[in-house]
Amino acid sequence: MQVPERLSMIRAKRKTLRSNLAQINPIYKTTQLDEKPDLKSSGFLLEISSMKAIVIGAGAAGLMAAYELTRKGADVIILEADNRIGGRIHTLIPSGFTQPIEAGAEFIHGHLPLTLALMEQAKMPYVEASMAMTEFKNGSFTAAFNSEHWERFEKIVSLLKRDCTLNELLDRHFRGPVFKDFRMQCQQMAQGLDLADPDKLSVFCIREEWTSSESQYRTVSGYGPLLDFLAHQIIINGGQILLNHRVSKITWDKGNVAVKVGSDIFKADSVIVTTTLGNLQQRQIAFKPKIDDSLFEVIGFGNVLKIVMEFENAFWEKSHPDLGFLFTDNDYTFWTQLELRRPVLMGWIGNDKASDLGALPDSEIIAQLLYKLGEAFPESQVQKVLKASVVFRYTPDQPTSGGYSWTMPQSLKAIRKINEGIENTLWFAGEAFERTGNVATVEAAFQSGRYSARKVLRSNLLD
Ligand SMILES: Cc1cc2nc3c(=O)[nH]c(=O)nc-3n(C[C@H](O)[C@H](O)[C@H](O)COP(=O)(O)OP(=O)(O)OC[C@H]3O[C@@H](n4cnc5c(N)ncnc54)[C@H](O)[C@@H]3O)c2cc1C
Repeated sequence: MQVPERLSMIRAKRKTLRSNLAQINPIYKTTQLDEKPDLKSSGFLLEISSMKAIVIGAGAAGLMAAYELTRKGADVIILEADNRIGGRIHTLIPSGFTQPIEAGAEFIHGHLPLTLALMEQAKMPYVEASMAMTEFKNGSFTAAFNSEHWERFEKIVSLLKRDCTLNELLDRHFRGPVFKDFRMQCQQMAQGLDLADPDKLSVFCIREEWTSSESQYRTVSGYGPLLDFLAHQIIINGGQILLNHRVSKITWDKGNVAVKVGSDIFKADSVIVTTTLGNLQQRQIAFKPKIDDSLFEVIGFGNVLKIVMEFENAFWEKSHPDLGFLFTDNDYTFWTQLELRRPVLMGWIGNDKASDLGALPDSEIIAQLLYKLGEAFPESQVQKVLKASVVFRYTPDQPTSGGYSWTMPQSLKAIRKINEGIENTLWFAGEAFERTGNVATVEAAFQSGRYSARKVLRSNLLD
């Protein structure tokens, strides 16, 4: 097909897809659309214009993969099980709240190239987030983490040549009663922050995250609009996003896939699966012929409960005006939105504790958090000033099958293998498969989505 023909096809498609876009997010009814398709590589576009790909999942990885494919002229359908895009990114205003909140991702962890470039493109402002850390333990506040031990930890992990698990490292270098509290803090951090088992967690996985002094940011309008922006670009480029389309089975042979949704079958040359690692570990999609799915077991996937509470006032500011993060002795973490000056507190319960408390009703979980806050701020009558609260669950029984991934020393090899794809036909992307092992973030999902799309494009040219 010639470039002009291809362009007129894209224009025609755009007209019919405008209504699709408005269904995904009503803001597109009024948004000024940039109608120009990306023609930076029109030669390339010619060569792949007949290529058809299916992307399963409209989270950060799926949208980025589809964006990259449609940018190059491929014919792409995204099949999304939920009735919205975003996956583990969900900005919303639940009943009783006066501000948008994040059910999932909230922070931009450092100077992350793809996320920040997209934010610039989408003209979304972001602010530096306060990382000031305080501990409330045995009834009193202290600065979190003993700096002397942390310095030792940083030095040891920076010199580490061979990966090992966190507990192996602690056993080797932090033995004895003097390190008892420090060891516990590290294990709590593994469970709380990384949602990981310290007996299996790779030190290479956490060393940069734990020792980095890079700034963290948060978007002012929430993460959601960033994914809306990507969806918008995909549709302008001629891609389709079908919501409420849960994939149950993929039948495939080299260069052909038939993807089953209810009684419908969608056909394409290749498929990129971006469902969560937990979904894959639970074998929610059947593959025919079967694939070797044992590699998914070599990467960890943890659980978390995220609780968001809006209060009548930021009562904590009376005694702690600069409060960023608050760690408590029963493994709850709280954080504020200090830089946005909102009377909102997030509560966070990671991994083992999330599994324990996950069976309780929301009201009971919130009551436990309020009790702890009441101990820390006894003069504030926290229960009386609570306006609204909500619990978001990321456990194996939920649609995400858990929170996010973490790596073991043997994970990187498995991740590399997964990134090779199967017969140039089946591909996997998502935060868990970032090819350098920097998993568990929105950036990881974007990077992985883009990487897999480029592999698809390249393999299509080579075939
Ligand atoms: C509570 C929480 C807080 C977080 N905080 C941060 C943070 O502050 N900063 C940060 O960078 N990261 C954070 N993360 C991690 C970040 O949210 C994820 O890394 C990222 O959003 C994952 O994107 P993804 O595309 O890989 O997966 P997902 O967003 O999970 O997308 C997968 C999509 O696949 C769809 N799907 C599943 N099964 C099917 C099926 N059978 N058929 C069709 N579609 C299907 C799902 O509905 C979903 O839309 C957080 C995660 C959680 C859970």
